[in-house]
Amino acid sequence: NFNLSKKGLEISPSITLEITAKAKAMKAQGIDVIGFGAGEPDFNTPENIRREGIRAIEEGLTRYTPASGIIELKEAVCKKLKKDNNLTYNTDNIIISNGAKHAIFNALMAIINPGDEVIVGVPYWVSYPELIKISGGIPVYIKTKEENDFKFSVSDLNKVLTNKTKALILNSPSNPTGAIYNENELKEIASWAIENNIFIISDEIYEKLVYDDKHISIASLNENIKNLTVVINGMSKAYAMTGWRIGFAAAHEKIIKVMSNIQSHTTSNPCSISQYASVVGLIGDQSSVEEMKKQFEKRRNYMVETINSIRGLSCKKPKGAFYIMVNITQLKGKTIKGIKINNSLDFAKVLLDECKVAVIPGIGFGDDNYIRLSYATSMDNIKEGLKRIKDFVEQF
Ligand code: PLP
Repeated sequence: NFNLSKKGLEISPSITLEITAKAKAMKAQGIDVIGFGAGEPDFNTPENIRREGIRAIEEGLTRYTPASGIIELKEAVCKKLKKDNNLTYNTDNIIISNGAKHAIFNALMAIINPGDEVIVGVPYWVSYPELIKISGGIPVYIKTKEENDFKFSVSDLNKVLTNKTKALILNSPSNPTGAIYNENELKEIASWAIENNIFIISDEIYEKLVYDDKHISIASLNENIKNLTVVINGMSKAYAMTGWRIGFAAAHEKIIKVMSNIQSHTTSNPCSISQYASVVGLIGDQSSVEEMKKQFEKRRNYMVETINSIRGLSCKKPKGAFYIMVNITQLKGKTIKGIKINNSLDFAKVLLDECKVAVIPGIGFGDDNYIRLSYATSMDNIKEGLKRIKDFVEQF
């Protein structure tokens, strides 16, 4: 019997792991599995960024940097935030971390006291509830509806507001739904947050992957909401740099100072090489971002049309990111190959076993009526994978 920490034992393993691990094992056995699980761009990191990483190594930029990141990258982040988001910050308002996930972790650790409540919309990105629990907070959920484009409103926020509410996580564009909050919706949420003195952790990691509508950072609406917001972004999704591990946060310097202190004693600086490469990513030629976005948009359009032509399945057209939430309610309760489909995990298992197609069950995002399909995979894979799903599902 190991006497382990309560906090550690409270953290759930990823429910999606079982499916992904199984898909990987099947692939290793030579089985032709089509994966719709990817949470990362299938493109290579653009060449100008790769070259800068090599230059950093060759020139010996391979030592500790300041714990909160190199000044050159903080300046590049300030430029990016000004240019793309109309946000004025100086380098004291910026911290560079080991990915956006780490930036969110630092933000929660800086803001949350034990028992504080943090509001999260459902379906949520899998890590939010666990990160909140690690920080000592309590996740409080708002279930959103497909007919409202999976978005919550101020009246939903008021229903869960208590005197313990400390922060709200806003993820626009959203993983897994692709939802984007428009200017009016953001204004209402901002007024609510100011009125109730609630911090907003605004996860904008998918900002560059917006196909319809445009991305607005809630912090850009006015000075009061800017002071309450921690803007989170990073290199992973826009620049196909998931393995480089660079994310960043922008906020009031008092928040950034605490985040930097926490980071200085836990991970120290993020990888020096990745930091130099990221400077070029942010201020260099942006044409590869546009090219990747075009590919994603083509795939999205094809997938949405095809999924909606499959009897028993349906989906909304997501406005951003690279995921589609596929509604499986029409299939629930049916028996397929002797297996009754009671939930999203059953359906994901059947798809993997019978069609060799890997998808993520919606229960991992808090909503059992869906499966999530990623279009961060080639058009050939998408065509073949959806054909397999169609041929299989339409038998029932
Ligand atoms: N936020 C959301 C909504 C994500 O989907 C992800 C990655 O899947 C992240 C943050 C973390 O990205 P990073 O690789 O920068 O840690």
